[in-house]
Amino acid sequence: MAAFKSIALIPAAGMGKRMGASINKQYLQLDGMPIVARTIAVFEASPLIESIYLVIPADEIPYCREHVVEACGFRKIAAIIPGGKERQNSVMNGLNAMREHVSDDDVILIHDGVRPLITEDLLRESIRTARLHDGALVAVPVKDTIKTVHGGVVSGTPPRETLWQAQTPQSFRFGKIFRAHLSAETDGFSGTDDASLVERTGGAVHIIRGDYRNIKITTPEDLILAEAFLSIMERERTQC
Ligand code: C5P
Repeated sequence: MAAFKSIALIPAAGMGKRMGASINKQYLQLDGMPIVARTIAVFEASPLIESIYLVIPADEIPYCREHVVEACGFRKIAAIIPGGKERQNSVMNGLNAMREHVSDDDVILIHDGVRPLITEDLLRESIRTARLHDGALVAVPVKDTIKTVHGGVVSGTPPRETLWQAQTPQSFRFGKIFRAHLSAETDGFSGTDDASLVERTGGAVHIIRGDYRNIKITTPEDLILAEAFLSIMERERTQC
C-alpha cells in the first residue's frame, strides 16, 4: 500500500448557543482545560496524525490562537480556518484549505470540536477502515426505541436493531469526501454529518463500534457527564 497521511479536520465553528454560557461553549473548562483544547490534544498526541486543520468562527480566531493553540503549545495545527453558516459549510472550508497540501488517498478524520473524549483506539480503527472502504463512521447502537413523529403524532417505529447513533470521527480518503461535499453543494443538499454526503453518492460507509462516552458536549448536563467520564477514563489509564 502506498504511503498516505492521516489528517484531522476539526469543525469548531458552531456558536454553542445551547449551553447558555457567555462564551462559546467550547472554551468552557473541562477539568482545567478548554473543551476544544482537550479535543485537539487527543489528535496532537497521536503518532497516527500528521496535522490538524481547525475551523473556528472568524471573529474567534485570535482568541482561539492565543488561548488554545499557543496556550497549550499545539504544534500540529496546519491552519485555523474561518467557519461557515452550517457545519457542512465549515467542513467544506476546511477541505478547501487543505486541498493543495494533501493527496486524494490521504485519510481525513473529521471530528467535532466538542467531542473531547475520543480515544486513540478509535482513531486507529477509523484510519484502517477508511483506507479499505468509502468511509468509516464511529457510531453506537441506540438504546431507546426511536419514533418518527409528524405534527406531534407518531408515524413510525423503525426496528431498533437497525438504528445506530452517529458520532465522530467520520473518516474518508480526501478525494472521496471532497467530491461528496462538492456534489452536495452543487445539488443544494444539506446534511447534518459528513457520512450522509458520501451515502447519497452511493458510497458504502462502514460502521466502527464507538463508545457511549464519546459524547458531544452541547448542553450544561453534557459537561457534567463529560467530567464524570473523564475521571473514569483517567482512572482506567493509571490502573495496572
Ligand atoms: O451543531 P452541531 O452540534 O452539529 O455541531 C457539531 C460540531 O460542528 C461542533 O464542534 C461545532 O462547533 C461545529 N460546527 C461548525 N460550524 C457550524 C456549526 C457547527 O464547525 N456552522
